[in-house]
Amino acid sequence: MKRVLLVGAGHAQLAVLTALARRRLPGAEVVLVSASERQVYSGMVPGLIAGRCSLDDCSIAIAPLAAAAAVRFVRGRAVALDAAAQAVTLADGQCIEYDVLALNTGPTQDRERLPGARDSALFVRPIEDFAALWQRTRALAEERALDVVVIGSGAAGVEIALAVRHALDSRGEVTLVSDGPVLASYPLRVQQRALKVLKRRAVLVLPGRCTAIEPSHVVLGTLRVACDVPIVAIGSDPPAWLAGSGLALDAAGFVRVGATLQSASHANVFAAGDLIVRDDLPHPRSGVYAVRAGPVLATNLRRFVAGGVLQAYVPQRHSLNLLATGDGRAIASWNGWSAQGWLMGWWKDHIDRAFVARYGSKK
Ligand SMILES: Cc1cc2nc3c(=O)[nH]c(=O)nc-3n(C[C@H](O)[C@H](O)[C@H](O)COP(=O)(O)OP(=O)(O)OC[C@H]3O[C@@H](n4cnc5c(N)ncnc54)[C@H](O)[C@@H]3O)c2cc1C
Repeated sequence: MKRVLLVGAGHAQLAVLTALARRRLPGAEVVLVSASERQVYSGMVPGLIAGRCSLDDCSIAIAPLAAAAAVRFVRGRAVALDAAAQAVTLADGQCIEYDVLALNTGPTQDRERLPGARDSALFVRPIEDFAALWQRTRALAEERALDVVVIGSGAAGVEIALAVRHALDSRGEVTLVSDGPVLASYPLRVQQRALKVLKRRAVLVLPGRCTAIEPSHVVLGTLRVACDVPIVAIGSDPPAWLAGSGLALDAAGFVRVGATLQSASHANVFAAGDLIVRDDLPHPRSGVYAVRAGPVLATNLRRFVAGGVLQAYVPQRHSLNLLATGDGRAIASWNGWSAQGWLMGWWKDHIDRAFVARYGSKK
């Protein structure tokens, strides 16, 4: 009996659970370790902040999926991996050995990146924690006006700032700190669209680099901005616990994998989602790619255990991006084309809700 250990119930691993529910893996015991009992679907987090959906609407319960797949679910956080000994250690000290490992724990945020942030800021990751903390912030905002500063102007930062603006209505200031162009990795037309929406919705875009966070201020060099709730939306860091694992990692610490999603150093270790870097075909880190890798991961785990030719995961060249603007509308972009409005908002909502429904929401 081989043990297949799945670590992290990320987007790709959801497809593995679904595949196992359809067809068991003969000759293998499958164990899933994940830090949370629910996966809060990040695409719906802006809607959660804006009050357009509930936490249950955007949550996928992990235990029922594992049960349907006859997978043993262990709720826990992996804190160490020894690839030579084929063992993963959890935060509670438990050590789980494996024959085959699949990692899908997503990105992390280095809490030491900004001095003071660890104690006073909300970090967008882990998303499950952020979602819970936002609920408390929202309750506080009912009592008094809050000034919110979002640090980081990538897609997540822009969506969060606009969603916060919607949630707070016109009470309190919402500021977006941007140390470069807003939506730097997007085409100019999309950047312009976003800037217009931010302006129209009275979100102040403050150029500059955040250097520290104090209990009631966000600091940008010599400038101190009054702030009740700083939200850190920068950084997509690899998990620090993989550093001493023996797995092949890139200079930043992401897991190097090849076309079959196997580790560049250990053939019995697979990885997918935001924690990987493809040696042959680098691609952006986003949920879209993590989702698309899922069926290939499921097939390859099965074939690796049973003995068979593994499949290559070919990431799509372009992906549809739908940025929620907090008011039910969205900006859509695909390979140079872009559009915005209610229809795009409806489209995003439809895709997101369909994704969660596919796995059965928390309700
Ligand atoms: C606000 C926001 C909005 C976004 N919107 C979009 C969008 O609309 N479209 C899009 O494509 N991308 C979006 N993204 C990016 C997207 O969230 C990530 O690319 C995606 O989550 C990566 O998926 P993943 O499967 O790698 O990991 P994740 O979705 O992060 O899942 C990892 C899982 O592993 C668990 N885990 C983590 N660490 C451990 C550990 N040590 N041990 C055990 N379990 C662990 C976590 O609890 C989690 O359930 C958004 C991001 C944010 C922050």
